[in-house]
This record gives sequence, structure tokens and C-alpha cells, in this order.
Amino acid sequence: MRYVSTRGGAKPQSFTDILLEGLASDGGLYVPEEYPRISPDELENMRGMSYPELAFAILSRFADDIPPEDLRTLIDATYTKDTFGSDEIVPFKKLEENFYILGLSEGPTLAFKDIALQLLGRLFEYVLEKRGGTLNILGATSGDTGSAAEYAMRGRKGIRVFMLSPLGRMSDFQRKQMYTLQDENIFNIAVRGTFDDCQDIVKAINEDADFKERYKLGAVNSINWARIVAQTVYYVWGYLHATNTGNETVSFAVPTGNFGNILGGYIAVRMGVPIQHLILATNENNVLEEFFTTGKYRPRKGTEVATTSSPSMDISKASNFERYIFDLVERDATRMKELWGELKTKGAFDISGAPELTRLKRDVFLAGSSTHADRIATIRALHEKYNMLIDPHTADGVKVGQQLCEKDVPLVCLETAQPAKFSATIREAIGREPVIPESFAKLGGLPERFETFDANAELIQKYIAKKV
Ligand SMILES: *Cc1c(COP(=O)(O)O)cnc(C)c1O
Repeated sequence: MRYVSTRGGAKPQSFTDILLEGLASDGGLYVPEEYPRISPDELENMRGMSYPELAFAILSRFADDIPPEDLRTLIDATYTKDTFGSDEIVPFKKLEENFYILGLSEGPTLAFKDIALQLLGRLFEYVLEKRGGTLNILGATSGDTGSAAEYAMRGRKGIRVFMLSPLGRMSDFQRKQMYTLQDENIFNIAVRGTFDDCQDIVKAINEDADFKERYKLGAVNSINWARIVAQTVYYVWGYLHATNTGNETVSFAVPTGNFGNILGGYIAVRMGVPIQHLILATNENNVLEEFFTTGKYRPRKGTEVATTSSPSMDISKASNFERYIFDLVERDATRMKELWGELKTKGAFDISGAPELTRLKRDVFLAGSSTHADRIATIRALHEKYNMLIDPHTADGVKVGQQLCEKDVPLVCLETAQPAKFSATIREAIGREPVIPESFAKLGGLPERFETFDANAELIQKYIAKKV
């Protein structure tokens, strides 16, 4: 399989070629030249598979330049009871007939990003070992993504992580989760400033091409293709658990920020899995709801992004969205350049008068949004009715999913984080704090490892140079 850029100007590459890369050389994102198909018979054969077996069946079609036995070993080492808490890896929980929760947040940092990042850590290590290179991952986090990246890369050979976080601005839980890691390849950098300052520093360092090259800087951002396709696996898993035969359809409700999670579902659709609807849920930051209901795409400026009680969905520009639009314009690179040109000059584009709108309306997506009051009400309702405690992001998905789902089509709501990570919102909803998992209660006793710096890119460059 070869991967091409959404802007049509980069040469096709293999899976392992694009694994460590971010953007393609023409500024676009890589997508497969063609989506592999799963036939109805193949889908039936997947019904009895364990999660690692299913992951191999799906991922081997995309990572076809890794020898199958190696890929199998990497997958088997990733999806274990030890790391994900049960042999199911992704538990499928029934609330009632046709209403299910897919448990994606059983990994080390209690959020769905672990599912892809845990595999990515092993894939990076494997490819670096083969090619004899090293990689220094530089990132900025407001809390959650950074810890998932650190837990994925801890102890991996040839990889170091330099993660910037805003000093004193994370929750106790987030801070402890990151700073208590004792691995020598993890460097926590606390910046006297905001998350935006951290991001600006990462950007400034990345713009120093000599430094970047010399110190082999890379990233684990949400546009990484391997992350997306690792997420396709659990849509197939969810489909198979919600049905008895391949003649049935299922809808998924997906709390959405960067459009990475739901893109995994879209790929399952393109592979032939009978999905009725992918129900996209936003919070108050509803840029994508607006696009999918009107055809107008108007990303907000950073300062216009609301801070909400589902913070991992507070996103101004969904970084993976371009991959979907590429298909929507039938992979017409000229049209892509036109739309992205408009985006650059006018800050928006509008397909409401174009034939693409008809295709958009016929496609698999439905979209809606949710407010803080909706989240609280949804958390409370599921707790009262089913004795099930969900986190605020999952609540966004459940709220919009219940609003837009069709009767008689099973609704599978993706659980993207554990409630323990968001205790203030949980207290507001049910009057008490969530139970903190035992593994996290223990973190309280561990020493915290971090270095503090002023918000100054040069100081941090010096620090990296000293540690590499
Ligand atoms: C990252 C995240 C999301 C959003 O996922 P995208 O792939 O960015 O759309 C939703 N919920 C939680 C808890 C997250 O951490």
C-alpha cells in the first residue's frame, strides 16, 4: 500500500516511511492511495477474534511493509491485560437493548488516546531500531495528550520525550500522572506561562531547521496516520459486538475534537463495515457541527475557543479534517488547493452552493453539539438509570447520540476517558467525587521529576542540547 498527500504534490510513500513524519512535503496529510476492502465473509470471520487478532487483521492491510510476524509481535505486546486492565482490551458494555458504551479508556492514562499511542510507541521503537536512528519527541501539553505520549514512549530504546507543560496550570491528577514518571528517557519541562506559551516555544524550536535536524526532533501529533488507523480497529470490534450478522447496521456516537477518533470510524466505513451513522458530537466549540449541517467551515481563532468542561474537545481547527475533505472532493487536488487557499485568505470555506454538499448529506455523518448543562444532565441520568458513571466527553457523545440515533439501529457510544480524570464535573453532576483507580492513588507517594524554565525557547533548546 502506498500513501499519497491530500494536496497532491508529494511522492507516494510506504507505511513505515510516513510513520515518523508529520505533514507531507507539500503541506498536506498522507492517506492511503486506496482503502482496502473487507468482504462480508472476511467480516464474519473476524467475529470470533480477540482484540489483538482483530487489530492484526485490520492493521496488516495498512502496514504491509512490516513483516507480518513482526507486526503480530508488536500488536500482541501492546494489547495486553496488563496494560488495558482486561483480556477484552476494549470492553463492550450494554446499558439496554440497542444502547451500548465502548470502553476505550482502560489504558495507562485512562483516555482513548492510549489505544493508538501504546502501539505507536512500539512501532516507533521498531522502525528506529531497523533504520538505526534516534528520535527526540518534542511536544506541548495542557495535560492529557502529553501524559498519553509519555506513557507510550517511556523506556523505549532510541526515543526521548521532551514535554512542555504550563507550570501550576494542570490538575493535580494530570501533573502527578506526568511528573511521577521515573524513566530516564522522559523529560518534563514546566514552563512559567500558559499552554499557548508552551505551544509557541515548540513552534519556534521546530522553525529552527538546523536545530531540528541536528537533534532529530519529531512529534506524536494527532495527524499521525498510524494513530488514526489503530483507531479503526475498535469500530470493527464495536460493530461485531453490537450485531449477530453482517446484515445489521450500527451507529457510533463520537466525542470529537481533532477529528482523529471519528476518522478511524470513517475508514471502517470505507473498508465496507456496515455502519449506519457516525454521529459527531462537539461541545460548545461547534465548528464541525456547523460544517456537517450547513457546509460552511469556519474554524475559530485561538482566542475564540471556549474553555469548557470537556476540555479535550476545545479545538479551533480540527487537524484531521482535511483527510475527509479530500475524499469529499473526490480526491481532486486542484479543488483541495482552492478550498485551502480560501481558508488561508478568508479564514473559512463554504461548499453549501457546490455539488459537494449533496455528497456530504448522503455520507455517513450526522452532527450535533452539547453544552455544559447537557453534560451534567447526561452524566446524572446515566448514573441514576444504569448506575454507570461516564466522563464529560463521553457525555457529549451520549447526549448527541441519543438525540440523533434512529430507533432500531444499535447505538454504540465511545467512552473516551474515565470519570476519575474530571472529578469537579462529576461532583457537580452526582454530588460526590468519582473513585480514583488504585494505580493512580499510588502516584501520590512518588517523587515528581521536572525542570522549570521561563517561557524562553533558547533556554529550552540549551536544555535539550545538554540532554541529547
Ligand atoms: C482527544 C480526546 C477527544 C477528541 O478526540 P479527537 O480524536 O481529537 O477528535 C475526546 N475525548 C477525550 C477524552 C480526548 O482525550
